Amino acid sequence: MKKRIGIVGSGTAGLQLAYALKDDFEVIMVCHRTPEQLRSGRIMSTQVHFGPTRAREERFHMPKWESNSLIESIHITVGDQKLFAGMLEKTGLSVDQRLAYSRYAEDLERAGVSFQQRKVEKEDIEELRDEFDLVIDCTGKNGPLVPFPIEKELTPFQNPQRKSIVGYFKGVKPISPLGVNVTVIPELGEMFEIPSETEYGPVTILFITAVPEGPLDMFKGIKTPEAFTIKMREAVEMFFPHIHERIVDLEFALCDENGFLQIAITPEVRIPYLNKNGRLYLGCGDSVILNDPITGQGSNLSSYCAEKLSDLLIEHKHADNWDEEMGRLYWERIKPFVKEVTEWTNAMIQPLPGHIVQMLLSAAEDQQKADKIARWFENPSTAHEAFLTKV
Ligand SMILES: Cc1cc2nc3c(=O)[nH]c(=O)nc-3n(C[C@H](O)[C@H](O)[C@H](O)COP(=O)(O)OP(=O)(O)OC[C@H]3O[C@@H](n4cnc5c(N)ncnc54)[C@H](O)[C@@H]3O)c2cc1C
Repeated sequence: MKKRIGIVGSGTAGLQLAYALKDDFEVIMVCHRTPEQLRSGRIMSTQVHFGPTRAREERFHMPKWESNSLIESIHITVGDQKLFAGMLEKTGLSVDQRLAYSRYAEDLERAGVSFQQRKVEKEDIEELRDEFDLVIDCTGKNGPLVPFPIEKELTPFQNPQRKSIVGYFKGVKPISPLGVNVTVIPELGEMFEIPSETEYGPVTILFITAVPEGPLDMFKGIKTPEAFTIKMREAVEMFFPHIHERIVDLEFALCDENGFLQIAITPEVRIPYLNKNGRLYLGCGDSVILNDPITGQGSNLSSYCAEKLSDLLIEHKHADNWDEEMGRLYWERIKPFVKEVTEWTNAMIQPLPGHIVQMLLSAAEDQQKADKIARWFENPSTAHEAFLTKV
């Protein structure tokens, strides 16, 4: 008989796990939102999936996207100086999670995966565990439901280091070559301009990561789409003139009334397994590895961890019992990469080190160096090496 796995949360981690595990196990997804609620709800992220994540989606036969918004490059501007556009090795893609998650959930249901619609509370988790051979907590940044222990070595901050301010806009002429346009304003924060696909067609995401209480942290108290749009135009005009000149006045608007978001994340890494009362719980995705969005790695890392976890569970599918050893093996497999991504992300939150500024400046004169920097985002181990290896 197939083992029963309950996955709580149908986001990047939970959905990829379901695709990867569904043929070897009985998979039950538990999520508090229906596909329709997801589709019509608030945006959740900016979600650039780089080449390795897209390759995993292909490996697990997840539905493909037709898109004219493929991300080929990373543009870097520091202050008001445009430095370069580096080319990625493989194209990336950002699909609004509202659209992606609802489509995947419907597709999985058609493929025989069961869905239970309910919000699981922390106190319900043990009861839920009774129904399954394993529960995987994929509840994202609102989680975890299971008290996985904090990994102190990788959790240096007690407070958010950036305010994330995101709007999905129509009416911004795309940059060429199409890609993520990163502007760093030393001491104030950053802007990420990202082409993306939505239910409403292609949009340009304007994503500000503001140092709290600084001049870019200017969206406090803004609650309506109208006020958000006015404030974003003001911020772009004031701090990002190279984007402002591509705004088409009469077309500049959010793609829908839920196309904006403000959130501040306190980064936190947890050891993603727990043996409670002799029973194993695992965590995957933001519920256990929550980094600041500044390096755009959260979905990519969730997908990486989900792949390692599904491979491990399938390798051990005939074991009599899954115990703490399984959790330990899972953590051992993902920890080196989790550490690299987390340390790089935490370094990006700090003022850029002198040797990185030198690297960026010299890449302005050398396309190969520019391409190498762009590829930090698709292969963050190389970014970690550049930032943290002592020279
Ligand atoms: C502003 C912003 C920008 C970002 N940009 C990028 C980017 O460019 N690239 C990138 O790779 N990553 C980015 N990220 C991070 C990325 O969005 C997350 O890392 C990724 O979505 C994590 O996937 P997940 O499956 O762990 O969680 P989620 O995608 O958040 O999914 C969690 C799921 O759990 C469900 N759930 C939660 N609580 C419960 C409960 N109690 N009971 C039942 N169900 C529950 C939710 O409904 C949801 O379905 C960004 C994040 C933010 C906030």
